[in-house]
Amino acid sequence: MRKFNLNKKLIILNLIMLLLITIITGCGEESSKLPTRLSDGMSEKLTIHFIDVGQADAILVQLPNEESILIDAGNNDDGQMVVDYINQLKIDRIDYLIGTHPHEDHIGGLDNVINNFETGKVYMPQVNHTTETYRELLTAIKAKGKKSVTAQAGKELINTDELEVKLLGPVKEHDELNNWSVVTKIKYGNNSFLFTGDMESEAEKDILNAGFNLESDLLKVAHHGSSSSTTQSFLEAVKPKHGIISVGSDNDYGHPSSFTLQRLKDYGVKIYRTDKQGTIIAVSDGQKITFNQEQTEFKLGDSSMDNRKSKVDLIRLDLKEEIVVIKNNSKKNINLTNWNLVSIRGNQEFTFPDRSIIKAGKTYKVTSGRRAKSGTNMIIWTERYMWNNGGDAAALYDENHNLVSELSRY
Ligand SMILES: [Zn+2]
Repeated sequence: MRKFNLNKKLIILNLIMLLLITIITGCGEESSKLPTRLSDGMSEKLTIHFIDVGQADAILVQLPNEESILIDAGNNDDGQMVVDYINQLKIDRIDYLIGTHPHEDHIGGLDNVINNFETGKVYMPQVNHTTETYRELLTAIKAKGKKSVTAQAGKELINTDELEVKLLGPVKEHDELNNWSVVTKIKYGNNSFLFTGDMESEAEKDILNAGFNLESDLLKVAHHGSSSSTTQSFLEAVKPKHGIISVGSDNDYGHPSSFTLQRLKDYGVKIYRTDKQGTIIAVSDGQKITFNQEQTEFKLGDSSMDNRKSKVDLIRLDLKEEIVVIKNNSKKNINLTNWNLVSIRGNQEFTFPDRSIIKAGKTYKVTSGRRAKSGTNMIIWTERYMWNNGGDAAALYDENHNLVSELSRY
């Protein structure tokens, strides 16, 4: 009773204060606007959560029409965390579920999501995979009495004046699972967003050739920032202002590659990374996009690969003399045929020719510029100058395009 009286008093006091303020400042008009402003703020936003799942992808999109999309759900071990994340937002239904491709770091947690929420259609590329993780997902879909819908380029999920959700890939079949990745474009008012899974340069080419309008304010950088994706021509078509990299710290793949980071930087793209910043949240009102984080800074030499020892290492990069020295740290001869050496600032790539053998414990030199020389354990890349004297980095990739070593010099 006492409490009630106190509350009553407080309310009356507040009313008097409000009346006084209104009289003094004459802002009666302002207060009548308040309710509409509040409701605008509540519903008409598009929010994208790049959930920090380490070396994996999990992206939740809350659409302005109150529906939701989930693109991937991290590794098997991330499933419960992704479920908790969605629950905490008080979402009880995922209207569109997209499994970009059957690798564990994308579909691993999807079965948990399907088991815990009401779901709409489940979109997946028409490609099989023989892993336990993939079988678990198919079982979960079946147990809910559902079938997955084939995801392919051109499929429209939503198409209204204000909001469009469309699949731009996969365009074609590929041997490499990454290139089957479902690519999704969302357009809301004047803002657009592109989600690329792990697609690599081959699939980027397919999408470019298909003639889709790729221009997007925000790009989910493909394949955790690997250098096998995000080609120059693709970036030129997308023209992103913001690039999000979903990647685990100290991962075994050397992701993101300095090559990709430098390329994004050269294009003026603001970079956000889950390994450095945790979950990244982007909010659009249809006109502009705001983030819960500042962009990250990238400098050559930041790469975690720089200080790592592998079986073959770049040990010297002389920018003026145009010499790169590669060392074989192992006890076996290694064949460098079809490996690549990349000058990151110079944006040039050298492919090692047939019979490029680096002997056990020995070094191998790659020379360029006018004074380039060849000889025993030494090869000429080109007589042009390949390295930027103001600072550059070299990256060495094996024949499967895995990053083996990186070295930067200023
Ligand atoms: Zn991946």
